[in-house]
Amino acid sequence: MPDLTDHGTEACTLKDRALGAYLGLAIGDALGATVEFMTPREIAQRYASQGGMHRHIVGGGWLKLAPGQVTDDTTMCLALGKALIQGQREGRPWETRLIADAYVAWWRGKPVDCGNTCRRGIQRYLRDGTLAGPQQESDGGNGALMRNLPAALATLGDEALFERVSLAQARITHHHPLSDAAVLGLGRMLRGLLEGENNLSEQALALAAAHPAFRFQPYPGRASGYVVDTVQTVLHCVCSHQDFEDAMLAAVNRGDDADTTGALVGMLAGARCGATGLPRHWLKRLDPAVRAEITEQTLALLAFATPSPS
Ligand code: MN
Ligand code: MN
Repeated sequence: MPDLTDHGTEACTLKDRALGAYLGLAIGDALGATVEFMTPREIAQRYASQGGMHRHIVGGGWLKLAPGQVTDDTTMCLALGKALIQGQREGRPWETRLIADAYVAWWRGKPVDCGNTCRRGIQRYLRDGTLAGPQQESDGGNGALMRNLPAALATLGDEALFERVSLAQARITHHHPLSDAAVLGLGRMLRGLLEGENNLSEQALALAAAHPAFRFQPYPGRASGYVVDTVQTVLHCVCSHQDFEDAMLAAVNRGDDADTTGALVGMLAGARCGATGLPRHWLKRLDPAVRAEITEQTLALLAFATPSPS
């Protein structure tokens, strides 16, 4: 793994790719939220004057967002990242209860939106203190998948720790084998990119081979919040488009859970191109407070990686 103490190009690469992933996720969230729950046909009609495509971070949507504002996808990531940083600082590293408490604090802070499965899991934790619910069919949403980026960053270099922390944070609200498989599968793809591998399409095909539910060729065309639909859409978009902007536009213009498919495409495509490769016009529109918090968190989380980049 590249060492951040070395000021050579490799050092820049890890930091740049990690920042590209996190900022890319926020860009996808802010851009996609405008067309969340719309159909591709409705989007094409609404944006007929822009070639039938939604292209700009302008806010609005069913949540009536300000331009550049993000939703639960980004703010739950920030909550998880905060809990991981707090654990290190307080000598309680990787403690799941800190993560659960961070999700409670996030929810009490009246987030702009909160998925039903997330809400149910947080309420269960408040009621009985359990860190995971029983495995159940209705937990197959993408809510645990969308927020796992900080766990993948902080545990770089330690695969067993990555699996343990990822599944622990996920099962606080989502306990489902396909959610677990998606969390670990996309997390490993992200980690591969951060460590300098350049084989995203190969990794996507390997994930689909290991979990046939995620097969995305031919693309079934569904982009809902069901974790299978989400993973298929994300893999399809990052494999069919090398360019960040092209992959992102392909994802969000499918509508439906557009902020979440956008966020996950942004995470993978952003790690692939690095922060320096992100479209400036989108980066500029992102809420500056979110951009600053992501930058600060990325550096703090990378410092926990093994071997410590110091
Ligand atoms: Mn959202
Ligand atoms: Mn969503």
